Amino acid sequence: MTEALTQDLVAAGRRTAHLPLIMMYHSVGVRSHDPNNLVVTPDRFEEQMAALKRRGLRGVSVAELVAARAAGSARGLVGLTFDDGYTDVVENALPILQSFGFSGTFYILAGRIGGANEWDEGTPWPLVDEAGIRRWADAGFEVGSHGMMHVALAGVEPDVLRREVADSREKLAGLLGKPPSGYCYAYGSMDAAARSAVAEAGYDHATAVISRVSLGPYALPRIWIGQVHTSKHILKMLYTYRLHRRISGRHAL
Ligand SMILES: [Zn+2]
Repeated sequence: MTEALTQDLVAAGRRTAHLPLIMMYHSVGVRSHDPNNLVVTPDRFEEQMAALKRRGLRGVSVAELVAARAAGSARGLVGLTFDDGYTDVVENALPILQSFGFSGTFYILAGRIGGANEWDEGTPWPLVDEAGIRRWADAGFEVGSHGMMHVALAGVEPDVLRREVADSREKLAGLLGKPPSGYCYAYGSMDAAARSAVAEAGYDHATAVISRVSLGPYALPRIWIGQVHTSKHILKMLYTYRLHRRISGRHAL
């Protein structure tokens, strides 16, 4: 199982080597039950961040990564993202990121602020309230939208798209004092209509999960990072990623 997951990670690095490297996290904490592989312990997370640092890389928000790419200065940057809005990300990941001088993007469900991840099976985990979101934003870190309720957007009706994409942006704007520039598709689920809705709502960029081809700034692929990934795996993945970049003639990392 562990070896298979490592192979997945290396293969994902190879597949997305022509794109900016963005890592996908969910919860950073200690939990007894994790059926969907969403949790990384604070110790493991710190080890993974240290691996990036050792390679001379800096973890940043997707907004910073996208802006740096546009300016031609993305070399050495890796995007760090945290989906769903788990309270332990603010408690555990935030201070670790700060200790490394890193940053990251926290994707919030505007309709579940202070709620729980009821869309998943098992014991519900708490999601940040307004104070938790402000703590993240006050650190200078990016807050993005993950929609309203955690709905898969591929094939949904226009009114659902409007609610999830545009209404969530408006709600977060009210909380943050400015609209979020990034969107993240729940379950990585999207289609052309969803990407158009994100662009029309005024977002600059959006993240998906794994994609073999580049669909542009509204479907940036990400690589899932789990508890199973030691610093050794991260370094191996980075090596593969860099190697394939070199072969393809691109050197953004
Ligand atoms: Zn999610």
